[in-house]
Amino acid sequence: MTHRRFVVEKAEIGLIGLAVMGSNLALNIAEKGNKIAVFNRTPEKTDEFYESAGDLKKQIIPCKTIEEFVDAIRPPRPIVIMIKAGEPVDQQMELLRPHLSKGDIMIDAGNANFRDTVARFDRLKNTDLTFIGMGVSGGEEGARHGPSIMVGGTEESWKRVEKVLTSIAARYNDEPCVAWLGNDGAGHFVKTIHNGIEYADMQMIAEIYGILRDGLGKSASEISGIFGEWNKGRLNSYLIEISEKVLAATDPVSGGPMVDMILDKAGQKGTGKWSAIEAQNMGIPATAIEAAVAARSLSSMKSQREAAEKIFGTQAVSFPIAYGPELNKDLELALFAAKIGAYAQGFAVMAEASREFNWSLPMPTIARIWRAGCIIRSQFLDEITSAFTKAPDAANLIVTPAFSDMVKESIPALRRVVGAAIAAGLPVPALTSALTYFDAYRQGRGTANLIQAQRDFFGAHGFDRLDGKDFHHGPWGSGASTF
Ligand code: NAP
Repeated sequence: MTHRRFVVEKAEIGLIGLAVMGSNLALNIAEKGNKIAVFNRTPEKTDEFYESAGDLKKQIIPCKTIEEFVDAIRPPRPIVIMIKAGEPVDQQMELLRPHLSKGDIMIDAGNANFRDTVARFDRLKNTDLTFIGMGVSGGEEGARHGPSIMVGGTEESWKRVEKVLTSIAARYNDEPCVAWLGNDGAGHFVKTIHNGIEYADMQMIAEIYGILRDGLGKSASEISGIFGEWNKGRLNSYLIEISEKVLAATDPVSGGPMVDMILDKAGQKGTGKWSAIEAQNMGIPATAIEAAVAARSLSSMKSQREAAEKIFGTQAVSFPIAYGPELNKDLELALFAAKIGAYAQGFAVMAEASREFNWSLPMPTIARIWRAGCIIRSQFLDEITSAFTKAPDAANLIVTPAFSDMVKESIPALRRVVGAAIAAGLPVPALTSALTYFDAYRQGRGTANLIQAQRDFFGAHGFDRLDGKDFHHGPWGSGASTF
């Protein structure tokens, strides 16, 4: 008599970390028909997760030990690590390593600094294991129903995970919002810049909200209505959509608008700051992102702001333009123009990083995978995809044929809005940064000739001449550096 052996089907992928992001990602993976093994440091959480998985239980192998977990996955094993970013990832990797075999891939899907990702990738370089740094955007909802996924690692390891990741990613016009973007830290770098742009986008919306609330006396529900209208036009995006919704929500405690009861101190976890730091490291201006990061820091200085308000008052004068259809249109266009500036800066930072780190980052693909699933998703990104596809070597988004026309149309409105806000004493740092970035970028003859002269005066740094003549120091006379 022959005995039939019961063979348990191996999981296609494994996942460690069953907190908010990991559990939602695991359910998404299971729901798309992929068998998944899961593990969490605290085993009770694995039980809780499995018990709440309902019909998806049949696709999930819950594991209590690392040995059991690794054994449950089909080699070469892709293992998603979705735990607290930083040191815990290194600790988890070290615990996993002795149990892995040739070709296995550890995938850090948390919000890692790309420099940590490069270091982790390098540590595994001369071993037979590999590493993927994977940026996942879209929060809890995205993880559960379709995030935007930015992958960095070897092409071979990408091939091993491509099918599963394609099945779980968000879709825009049926195209999956996932791509392999290059080696080692490419995915986490692009995710970082995504977050930097997100900071700028949110800050610019908040500044327009400030003009409407403090400059024009609009209520939260009126501003919600305005954003709702704008969401039907060129500003159509997730962030405008949720702004409309949050401004319309009622506080169950006071019965007034919810936003009016929320403390005006914005949190930050670091990715916006990393974007600004990396932009500075590479010498690429990302002024709108920097302004947004600084604005969050200033927002947290609540007691200092309150003390200063007592000394100086809030507004200098009332907003100089009356609200009506014309100003409404200007505000909408101003936000659009500033948004172009912020995205142009983010893409310029990525273009430079691509050169510096030898990643060959594909700009149209990045815009394409941000069209759905992530926080900055919008119709606008479809236009960026198309602009970079038609002009792949453009030095900057704003000089692509499609965007230069949009900039010409919208910059006058940004100038009017920023001018009026500044006259009224309303803070609009990100909008202003986008405007002055444009004004400086399109100025063929700038003012750095004076800076070069000053540098030569005090430090004998020398300068290049416009006429190309070989005479590189100024006739500064006494008081100038004698070097
Ligand atoms: P989290 O709160 O950042 O981390 C909790 C998870 O990490 C738990 O599973 C915990 O296990 C595990 N953990 C902590 N220290 C550990 C260690 N030393 N060794 C092993 N496991 C450890 O979880 P999350 O909010 O789901 O976020 C996960 C990652 O996704 C983070 O990098 C986060 O920045 C990123 N992310 C989050 C969001 C979001 O909206 N939340 C969006 C995008 C990206 P125990 O249960 O045993 O404590």
